[in-house]
Amino acid sequence: MATQPRGIPAPPPTGETALKPGTFDGVPVFITGGGTGLGKAIASEFARLGAPVVIASRKSKHLEAGATAMQELGAEVLAVECDIREPDAIAAAFDAATEAFGMPQVLVNNAAANFPVPAEDMSPNAWRTVVDITLNGTFFCAREFGRRHLDAGSPASIINIGASYAWTGGPGFAHSSAAKAGVKNLTESLAVEWGPYGIQVNCLVPGLMPHEDMTADIQGNLERFHDKDASQPALRVGKRQELGWAATFLASPYARFITGHTLVVDGANWQRRTLANPPVVSVRDQMGKDPFSIT
Ligand code: NAP
Repeated sequence: MATQPRGIPAPPPTGETALKPGTFDGVPVFITGGGTGLGKAIASEFARLGAPVVIASRKSKHLEAGATAMQELGAEVLAVECDIREPDAIAAAFDAATEAFGMPQVLVNNAAANFPVPAEDMSPNAWRTVVDITLNGTFFCAREFGRRHLDAGSPASIINIGASYAWTGGPGFAHSSAAKAGVKNLTESLAVEWGPYGIQVNCLVPGLMPHEDMTADIQGNLERFHDKDASQPALRVGKRQELGWAATFLASPYARFITGHTLVVDGANWQRRTLANPPVVSVRDQMGKDPFSIT
């Protein structure tokens, strides 16, 4: 009997946990950009499993939203203002975190910047800003965290948040996709350099996981695609808790031998390539932009 495609079933609801209750009791977790979207979802899963959570980002409204969400889950939380482009600010944020909860044992490098723009329109400042936040910021945070653990001789876990256009390229997102390729590569270098000291370094790649905190630019870009569910092999987009569960697993004692790995949580969407794809539409046309002129 023929089977109709139904896609991959929905996951358990938000609030369920796969790991044992208390898996992260007393294990401070430091999450950049943890006050919005996927960062907040990841922070929430650590909080549900007992972790004291540190949220670091620039804007007070994001920090407050993250802190409130963690408090509602009954977690201890510290929200610290920090621009991850500034190594001194990162050091100060780790000092504050250590004073509040002890040295963070898990670092989630989630903060990133992104907006769609044809490469020919991209200003040097736009390129620098996205690379500075997404790649340099990730390295600066990892460096600060790694140095503290090497000095203390303590094991630890880093999870870098990547993107699948690290492999495929990202037309319309040349800055972000180049930076994410760097993040994936950095994961592999650090995993080998710091493995002997007990520091695991992994990368976690979300698929399409829409959420209400997406910037207007990214929302607008998504709205150009008709049916987001039907465009995925899973016949649905990802739920943010699916990323949070993967993050808590990677940082848990049950994933101790996994390091240098990039785990993609996207329902196989990034492998969806054929020799004859739908007709090519230029990035300018996708974005409704006039033909390029240098003047
Ligand atoms: P988002 O809601 O736009 O969150 C970005 C976060 O980064 C914000 O909390 C922002 O906080 C923080 N941030 C930006 N610049 C910063 C800086 N200089 N210093 C410190 N914090 C900074 O993004 P998202 O959709 O949740 O994405 C989270 C991660 O998943 C990103 O790494 C993204 O590339 C990746 N990703 C997402 C998707 C998706 O479908 N959503 C798909 C693939 C990959 P402040 O503004 O307060 O600084």
